[in-house]
This record gives sequence, C-alpha cells and structure tokens, in this order.
Amino acid sequence: MSAILPLYARIIFCFSSGDAACHNAAMTQTKTLPRPADFSDIRDWVFDLDNTLYPHHVDLFAQIDKNMTAYVSTLLQMERDEARKLQKQYYLEHGTTLQGLMIHHRIDPNDFLEKAHAIDYSALMPQPELAAAIKALPGRKFIFTNGSVGHARATAAALGILDHFDDIFDIVAADYVPKPAGSTYDKFMSLNRVDTKNAVMFEDLPRNLTVPKALGMKTVLLVPQNLEGTVVEWWEKTTGEDEHIDYVTDDLTAFLKALI
Ligand SMILES: [Mg+2]
Repeated sequence: MSAILPLYARIIFCFSSGDAACHNAAMTQTKTLPRPADFSDIRDWVFDLDNTLYPHHVDLFAQIDKNMTAYVSTLLQMERDEARKLQKQYYLEHGTTLQGLMIHHRIDPNDFLEKAHAIDYSALMPQPELAAAIKALPGRKFIFTNGSVGHARATAAALGILDHFDDIFDIVAADYVPKPAGSTYDKFMSLNRVDTKNAVMFEDLPRNLTVPKALGMKTVLLVPQNLEGTVVEWWEKTTGEDEHIDYVTDDLTAFLKALI
C-alpha cells in the first residue's frame, strides 16, 4: 500500500482492499489519538452538529431526510420517489435541499426548517463524558451547522452538552448559504472574530473541511464507528481528495479526552 496516498484515501483503500495488514493499519489509523501538544495553540473549537457531535449510527438525520422528502412531495404534488430524486438533486446542486427549494420555488425557509426538524430526539442519550471533555477544552466552543438553531439546541440539549457552547451559527445566520461555501465560513469567522490559525474544525463531511484547511485551521474528520460496514455508502458521498484532513477519528469523546 502506497504511503503517497493521503491519510483519508489510504484508510478507505485499506478498508476495501481485503489485505489484512492494510485493513488493520486503517483500523489503527481511525483509533489513533492526537497528541495534546499538537492542539496547544487552539483557542477556538468549531463543531459541525449532525453526525459529528453524535455518532453516525444514531442516524437522526434519517428522520430529517424523510421530512424533507415529505415537504417536497406536498409542495410540488409529487410521488415520494420523484420528490426524493428532486430533493437529492437540489442537495447536490446547491449544498442543501433548502437552498434549491428557495431558488427554484421561492419557499419560506423558516417553514421548511420547522417542518424538516420536527423529529423525535429520544434516540439521543446524555453523554456526560463528552460533556466533560468539551467543557474542559481551553477556549471558546461553537456549533457551526447547515441546520437550524432550534435543531442544534434540541440536539445538544439531548446530549447534555448545550451549556458548554459559546454560540451556535446556523443556516439562518449564514443567509441560507450552506457550508462548504467560502462566504459562509468568512461570515462565521468574522462574526465570532475567530483567528483561524488558532482554531480547529470537526466535521463528518470531508468537503466541508476544504475551506477551513485553506484558512489555516486544523481539521478533524469524524467517520462512522463501523466504518467497515458503511464504507461503500460513505465513500460515495466523498470527493476522494483529502489533503485537507489532518486527523481522522471514529470516537469524538476519546479524541477530545486525549487533548485535556
Ligand atoms: Mg454533519
């Protein structure tokens, strides 16, 4: 296995290679904890919300996804399958389904956000260890999400971590322009006076780490805990380019605890 391949591509390659040594190396890579010294200059800790602050397997997003399909179906009087196709097309073309619906159908974004996020949060359990780790991080902590503040607050409250964040920057604050648009990161950084040289971003979508890395931030990619089983579906969502990913982990709590 070539060492030339970047970290993230190497992990993906090894998980799907069938080569035992390579596979084990990939397993080790996702379990490797950072050295506190590497993060000693970090003063601002920026977290994506969905599939980052709670693990991928909780699959809260599946409920939101279903609600969005229902919204498109009702709005455009489409069958579910047709609505879903359009929903995904807008997601791919515009970064979020919402952005596509606003551009092509001039919908009320607040109505959409309310309906999309009308979900059951009972799958989320309080995470005292994660809460203690976030609390102990030196500096400010932010949630930076393409969802709504209401959804972020409900999610963080269910996890028992809400009180440890200084602010939540959501899709409304971003004027409905989602990550990975550069202008949205600029807005977030300037609003909160974040010095990117002393900041880190945690994300589950590789493409959302490209701009942070270019701005000088450290970047951490969260991957599913059972990466092996989900690797194909997950790989399909990615760009295959990963020079912008500094760390890969499948356990946010363990990663943060290693830093304090
Ligand atoms: Mg996410």
